[in-house]
Amino acid sequence: MSKKTSRSRLAYILIGALLVSTIFVTLQPFLPKPGSDTPPLPPPPPIEKVAIPSFNVDSAFVFVQKQVDFGPRVPNSPAHQKCAAWFTGEFKRYGLSVISQNFKATHYKGTTFNAVNIIAQYKPNLPKRILLAAHWDSRFQADKDEKNKTMPIDGADDGASGAAVLLEIARTLAANDVNLGVDLLLFDVEDQGDDNGASETWCLGSQYWSKNLHRPSYMPYSAILLDMVGAKGARFMKEGVSMQVAPQTVEKIWSLASSLGYGNYFVPDPRSGITDDHVFVAQGAGIPMIDIISTPNEGDDPFGRHHHRHSDNMSVIDKNTLQAVGQTLTAFVYQTYNGVL
Ligand SMILES: [Zn+2]
Repeated sequence: MSKKTSRSRLAYILIGALLVSTIFVTLQPFLPKPGSDTPPLPPPPPIEKVAIPSFNVDSAFVFVQKQVDFGPRVPNSPAHQKCAAWFTGEFKRYGLSVISQNFKATHYKGTTFNAVNIIAQYKPNLPKRILLAAHWDSRFQADKDEKNKTMPIDGADDGASGAAVLLEIARTLAANDVNLGVDLLLFDVEDQGDDNGASETWCLGSQYWSKNLHRPSYMPYSAILLDMVGAKGARFMKEGVSMQVAPQTVEKIWSLASSLGYGNYFVPDPRSGITDDHVFVAQGAGIPMIDIISTPNEGDDPFGRHHHRHSDNMSVIDKNTLQAVGQTLTAFVYQTYNGVL
């Protein structure tokens, strides 16, 4: 072995070591840190917030009028059938995917109703969803009236107002894209119950839906029911069952309404529980749903004076009330996406 040979070997070793250390220094920022298996993920890009669209109250008003023009939407009547077809056509026109859930319901007086719950889905593939619901049928008799007690009512407020707000929200979603799932659910046969009978004689559509969900294990992020949301002098109080099942949703809605200037409609006072679709949705499907329902009066009959009377017609409908509810719900949907709520 010669000196020359060993010197050149040493040179190779030195050059090799230099190369390895250069590669290591170059790669070091990309190598895993000691104690972690994978490099840390980059922070998620902030979501681009979307503006809250204006709720078009003139359009909502026309939707109330349109329903009333069909005549009372009592199950098994031609008006009921025509109105259901109209809803379906409208939702489809706005690009929503519609499920008509047909079912038979037995009235407490014995009649079998051909009934239909209508479920309109905005962005049906998105897992995070908000459920907005209302009943669309109108009552078969004017029990509380002085005259024509056995004749059906127009149900401009009790039925048509909530459905109109939902339709207008469908139209708004179609025109103002948001990456959030929204389900608009119209319950049938809510208002054909027995005033002197069991609470189960009411809300037959929501009772059916709760046991036959349109998709298995359906659980929305938030669920809100609207009932009697269009009359002059409406007052929405914090209803008892809503406060029991979803107080956080109640708080969000009432404080949002107040921040939008509708604090005179959304009054932060408690009111005792009311038998309405949300009760059966909570009981039957375990979905915590709140009820926005006008109860301007205290005592046994908290509803407006037109309730279950013939005066529940277009003359009680007030655009200011529809605006307060419609704009609050629109803001609720878009602010939920924005991560503000
Ligand atoms: Zn009613």
